[in-house]
Amino acid sequence: MDFAFDARTEELRRKLQTFMDEHVYPAETVADEQRAAQDSPWETPPVVEELKRTARKHGLWNLFLPDRTYGAGLTNLQYAPLAEILGRSPRLAPTAVNCAAPDTGNMEVLTEFGNAEQRRTWLEPLLSGEIRSGFAMTEPDVASSDATNIETRIRRDGDDYVITGRKWFISGAMNPDCKIFIVMGKTDPDAPDIRRQQSMVLVPRDTPGLEVRRAMQVYGYEDHYHGGHAEIVFDGVRVPRSNLIGEEGGGFAIAQARLGPGRIHHCMRLIGMAERAVELMCRRAQGRSAFGGQLAAQGQVREWIADARVQIEQLRLLVLKTAWLMDTVGNKGAHTEIQAIKIATPRAVVGILDRAVQLHGAGGVSQDFPLAELWAAARTLQLADGPDEVHQRSLAKRELKRHAVDGE
Ligand SMILES: Cc1cc2nc3c(=O)[nH]c(=O)nc-3n(C[C@H](O)[C@H](O)[C@H](O)COP(=O)(O)OP(=O)(O)OC[C@H]3O[C@@H](n4cnc5c(N)ncnc54)[C@H](O)[C@@H]3O)c2cc1C
Repeated sequence: MDFAFDARTEELRRKLQTFMDEHVYPAETVADEQRAAQDSPWETPPVVEELKRTARKHGLWNLFLPDRTYGAGLTNLQYAPLAEILGRSPRLAPTAVNCAAPDTGNMEVLTEFGNAEQRRTWLEPLLSGEIRSGFAMTEPDVASSDATNIETRIRRDGDDYVITGRKWFISGAMNPDCKIFIVMGKTDPDAPDIRRQQSMVLVPRDTPGLEVRRAMQVYGYEDHYHGGHAEIVFDGVRVPRSNLIGEEGGGFAIAQARLGPGRIHHCMRLIGMAERAVELMCRRAQGRSAFGGQLAAQGQVREWIADARVQIEQLRLLVLKTAWLMDTVGNKGAHTEIQAIKIATPRAVVGILDRAVQLHGAGGVSQDFPLAELWAAARTLQLADGPDEVHQRSLAKRELKRHAVDGE
């Protein structure tokens, strides 16, 4: 077993670390100041566009996309340690290198399932970072962790589709640069196979009948840097039939294909968030004293720091193994491990961030440290892209099958 990264990964890691130190971390406060001075908090601050230009110049662009024609052509194993570095500054770094969700998943869908015209019109401007995009699946009126519940209707009418429904928590949609949505709805609600009822269509933001109604908060945060999480109403929205992605009835399968890489990317970034939390914990513990000694001298604090290190090492190994499996046996073959990391990583990282907040006292819950916001972001990943319980249910089902008792 070889635990070393290959030469290309090492080179990109070095470049990315330098980019983070020289450009991304210093831009964190600049971006906040620019955003505060803007007319709308949803617009991308100019410093982010500068970061994008610099990243591109240094060859740090579309690293997530394994496709060699459109992306950097990295394997999951090569991308994993890079995504971890990006996770250290989740507000800015993923966007700076055009590796931010939900664009990443949408670009993967268009690369894999889009036709030539769809790629030209939507994939190319996404790849160049000119526009952003949204993925609209979840609905307020149904339990959307079970995607077969989705009620949005995509009705055929001559050469068009007409879309009616309500979605929420559509990440990125508040940002005016978000020009295109991939919308999942039902084209055939009566199909006997409940996984063939759904389709996906491309809906441009400016289509009449589409209303971005409000921004949903996340523990009180608006997540401006992610373009927020919007509620969107589709009221008789009409698009040409050529906006269908793949085939009618293929929406459920595309959603499944989209989520595999998305889940591992989230876990990789979460590990970077945890690393930043440990760094902040160590600095704080050594820079502050109470009751006659450094906080770092307290056994409890040392236990927190040691446990965090142990957990991070465990998680990283599991994430890297999963990445390697995805590269060698495919996403389907890595199903159990993808579910395992999606359950284990947010849960553990929430715990690490929670202890980091505690160690920072009142400052920890405030805007002066990134910890509270990182905690909220990590906590939402116990819900988004499939709640923990849904992954546990399906993982346990396979495990039970493996050890089935005769006659059961
Ligand atoms: C910050 C954030 C960003 C998001 N971004 C997007 C986006 O861009 N696009 C999009 O379409 N969606 C997005 N979502 C929505 C997210 O994917 C859904 O919240 C998620 O799929 C769960 O669906 P639901 O909220 O309807 O919960 P429900 O389906 O109502 O489930 C609620 C709870 O029921 C329990 N439960 C459900 N099923 C089971 C089971 N089988 N066994 C045991 N317990 C179960 C779980 O505890 C679960 O948390 C986002 C969510 C958040 C918080």
